[in-house]
Amino acid sequence: MSMETTAWTQLHSVMNAERETRPFSRVTLRRIAVFARPHRRRIALFVVLGVLTALLAVATPVLAGDVVDTIVNDGDEAAVVRLALLIAAIAVAEAALGILGRRLSARLGEGLILDLRTAVFDHVQRMPVAFFTRTRTGALVSRLNNDVIGAQRAFSNTLSGVVSNLVTLVLTLAVMLTLSWQITLLSLVLLPVFVVPARRMGHRMARMQREAATLNAAMGTRMTERFSAPGATLVKLFGRPEQESEEFAARARRVAEIGVRTATAQSVFITALTLVSALALALVYGLGGWFALRGTLEAGAVVSLALLLTRMYAPLTALAGARVEVMSALVSFERVFEVLDLRPLIEDRPDARDVPEGPVSVEFDDVRFGYPSADKVSLASLEEVATLDTRGGDEVLHGVSFRAEPGQTVALVGSSGAGKSTIAQLLPRLYDVDAGAVRLGGVDVRDLSATSLRAALGMVTQDGHLFHDTVRANLLLARPSADDTDLWDALRRARLDALVRSLPDGLDTVVGERGYRLSGGERQRMTIARLLLAGQRVVVLDEATAHLDNTSEAAVQEALAEALEGRTALVIAHRLSTVRTADLILVVEDGRIAERGTHEELLAAGGRYAELYRTQFEQPLSAKLGPQTPQEPTDNDSIIASTRSAT
Ligand code: ADP
Repeated sequence: MSMETTAWTQLHSVMNAERETRPFSRVTLRRIAVFARPHRRRIALFVVLGVLTALLAVATPVLAGDVVDTIVNDGDEAAVVRLALLIAAIAVAEAALGILGRRLSARLGEGLILDLRTAVFDHVQRMPVAFFTRTRTGALVSRLNNDVIGAQRAFSNTLSGVVSNLVTLVLTLAVMLTLSWQITLLSLVLLPVFVVPARRMGHRMARMQREAATLNAAMGTRMTERFSAPGATLVKLFGRPEQESEEFAARARRVAEIGVRTATAQSVFITALTLVSALALALVYGLGGWFALRGTLEAGAVVSLALLLTRMYAPLTALAGARVEVMSALVSFERVFEVLDLRPLIEDRPDARDVPEGPVSVEFDDVRFGYPSADKVSLASLEEVATLDTRGGDEVLHGVSFRAEPGQTVALVGSSGAGKSTIAQLLPRLYDVDAGAVRLGGVDVRDLSATSLRAALGMVTQDGHLFHDTVRANLLLARPSADDTDLWDALRRARLDALVRSLPDGLDTVVGERGYRLSGGERQRMTIARLLLAGQRVVVLDEATAHLDNTSEAAVQEALAEALEGRTALVIAHRLSTVRTADLILVVEDGRIAERGTHEELLAAGGRYAELYRTQFEQPLSAKLGPQTPQEPTDNDSIIASTRSAT
């Protein structure tokens, strides 16, 4: 490794070291060892290569000294040629070892990245929905990319840096001391003159670099937020583009400023390093020459010393930064482990069982629930806040009990914020209850295996999320084994076949955020098609609040009737037709069930339902009887949805 690259590496590691003062964590070291264990043979080979390289690096300067001595003393031509050939052979061997070493370290590094990445991805996938509602996607992705790579880089650098540099340094110093201890000690005196200010500068640069990283991350988050379709629409409608641009430019300018200052500092650093080693070299030539002239030192020894010195500064500076390097490795690893350590709130019990066969009932038994506090589901660093809220969430559901017999449809109605979605989310176990129980076919959902629960229960959400992929891929998510006949059958039953046939590439048309835009009603029918494909026995349905045009409404209604046939269903009802035909209507108020009964019973009672029915359900009907809207106002819906999720 050349002196310059070592200097760069050291500088880089100084900048990377975030919290140098962090206590050395034994646990972290042990866990790193676990990740390194599968690669132990490669690591051993790497160490052997490092030692060999160091040996070769010391050999050449000594041989060069021998050449000079041979010339000066006896003038044996054959000996000079032999020495030259040996030097050439060493150069070739050094080159070969270099390539081998780099290849090996790449293998090691990439292997480690692969292991860490898959571990983090695997783990994050299993996190509860609550985690994703709190975490900023950008922060999470950066954990998967930057920190994993940081951990790898620090790992490889520490390995190659510490091992080979230490061996090189010890060998070089030993050889130099045997040649001339006076010159060796004197040339070492210059080192602190350079290392001390360099370290101080390193710290200052680390601060700037950290600020740049924060600014960059903030810019990234802002861009992803503002450039998403709903975000861009919101800015167009409410935002002040000039101010947005100005704020953005201010941050970008600061990053640019830091970039210039870092580059300047880096060049000063490199120049200082080169200068000090050149000065030391002058010292060797001057003092060594003087000794040689007085006969206390061989001419060859002066040459060897000079060559050795140039090779010694690089490992010295690298080792000076090794502590920082190790610390930064620990920080990166800890940031990765931090994510891996987040225990999912919801896990299968060891003796988890399957959902009973056949049609199943749904039962809520005196259910109490509050959303978990932030510290239970997330990481402060992923939410970009200093500390997480540890306060337990206020109770949202206060003793909810009801029962849906197999095949029945239960409608949940009530004003916004009453707790309907919360009730709906407890059934697929997106959250667990705090007290009471949710049962499926008489079995507590906490005793069921996640796989069997997924197979038995389907959820249709309002937004009907589609991945940016083909219609086929979006449908196959529900049943990977389905063939085209199954897909078309599901599309026909979901009243979507005509639409898909009319798409440019049929089943292979890309839909989703950036693909062919399906309307709200179409998206919902797509989720219904998924439901039909998966054939789940229980359905949780959050009806779209978007008031669909008559054709769409009718189509969705027909599709739903088909989908709910023979299934137990829990429906957050926004439509008159659903409410009317439901076997049981629950009026949810402030986390309690205020009234229950059939449509007729509740109307006759003249209570809260009768009132709701007049305000909530009759209005859309009269609106629908008015002039027909040709296109659904889906953009409005997504804005409403995005503002809601932002709060
Ligand atoms: P509805 O579906 O009837 O409109 P929700 O079940 O969405 O009502 O909300 C019930 C209450 O729970 C509201 O007070 C809401 O603020 C709160 N809530 C909803 N989602 C969350 C969440 N993820 N974290 C914390 N509180 C929530």
